[in-house]
Amino acid sequence: MDVLARCSKCGAGLPVRAADAPAAIRCGRCGSDIPLSFSAAERADTAVDSCPVCQGADFYTRKDFDPTIGVTVVVIGAAMSAVFYWFGRDLVAYSILGGAALIDLAVYGRLKDLTVCYRCHTEFRGAYRCTAPAFDLHIADVLEQEYERRIGRR
Ligand SMILES: [Zn+2]
Ligand SMILES: [Zn+2]
Repeated sequence: MDVLARCSKCGAGLPVRAADAPAAIRCGRCGSDIPLSFSAAERADTAVDSCPVCQGADFYTRKDFDPTIGVTVVVIGAAMSAVFYWFGRDLVAYSILGGAALIDLAVYGRLKDLTVCYRCHTEFRGAYRCTAPAFDLHIADVLEQEYERRIGRR
């Protein structure tokens, strides 16, 4: 499982492999040490049960969406259809636009799920099954505030 540990001081994302992760990593941006405690399930890539950074056990699942891919497809599609539109081939122009939108949908549908820690926003990618529920704004509010008080950010 690949983990993007979130530095509690500066919010930088630090990639770690759970299988051979050290007991602590140093943040490349602000230099603070971040202790990591991975569970056996996380090292074996079977489940996300406790957060290695904040020890929380509240997670949500979201699509691993890379917005740059989708935007690129739409921009290229729009540029191509503009050319055809210019030459008076409206139908071709519209079908290219529609095609770009379809490719976008296909890209979105193939996206993998990833698990995110509500408190510190550490991300977990791997072959394990994502069982966490979808994002809930109310839970996020409560847990983020609790975590920020704990680490003394507010
Ligand atoms: Zn940092
Ligand atoms: Zn966490």
